[in-house]
Amino acid sequence: MSVFSAPQFARTLEIPQVLIAPSIDPLSDKNRELGTGQIEDILQQLGIHSDKPMVTQISRFDRLKDPVGVLEAWRIARRRVDCQLVLAGGGATDDPEGAVVLREVREKASDDPDVHILDLPPTANIEINAIQRASTVIIQKSLKEGFGLTVSEALWKSKPVIAGSVGEIPLQITHKYSGILTHTVEGTAFWIKQLLSAPEFAQSLGANGHNHVRNNFLRTRHMRDYLLAFSYLTGDRSDVIRL
Ligand code: UDP
Repeated sequence: MSVFSAPQFARTLEIPQVLIAPSIDPLSDKNRELGTGQIEDILQQLGIHSDKPMVTQISRFDRLKDPVGVLEAWRIARRRVDCQLVLAGGGATDDPEGAVVLREVREKASDDPDVHILDLPPTANIEINAIQRASTVIIQKSLKEGFGLTVSEALWKSKPVIAGSVGEIPLQITHKYSGILTHTVEGTAFWIKQLLSAPEFAQSLGANGHNHVRNNFLRTRHMRDYLLAFSYLTGDRSDVIRL
């Protein structure tokens, strides 16, 4: 049997294949609840002040995650609503292209005190959790994407998410219901401004997104899918229809 995470990766094969979407672990350091004091301590260690609304993208510094586009969108939005930007991610040390992108983003940010560019180590799970929980709006402005786990992670924390309508992100976000889907820098800028100006609407997106992740993208659903696949393999085919 073969397992694919999404239909676009599936191939014509002679063995049975099943589609099983990825999931997040709500009990892991990346996703578990954190106390307010703990979040504040971590932000302080990272040099981020929580005095302004925080717009965040957590991603490897990779062109397909479009960190420069996020910076441009944030700059347009900031003309209307005061806010800070956090671009946090790793991947710059072992990936030469990542280092180039990180340098480019730093140059473009040109020491703006409201832009925090954080090159995080791979172990920074609690830090990512704290940054996501402290954020007012979370962006995932990918130009190309697989599943986009950062979207599930942000929605699980009940955050309003603005994300590129690519890869499997539309499976996680229904536009204007459980988040916002965008295609351009201008669209992203528009929605940053809108969500920062309409906190109740933003909160409702986050709440709907949280429920969607709870129902579809937690480890429990993932385990159920695998158990059904295993029961198919061991000959009990009565459950297969539910896969
Ligand atoms: N991530 C991380 N540290 C970073 C950047 C990302 O741990 O510096 C995590 C992020 O929280 C998510 C995963 O890496 O769990 C990225 O998965 P996603 O599907 O969003 O994108 P990919 O990097 O696989 O293209």
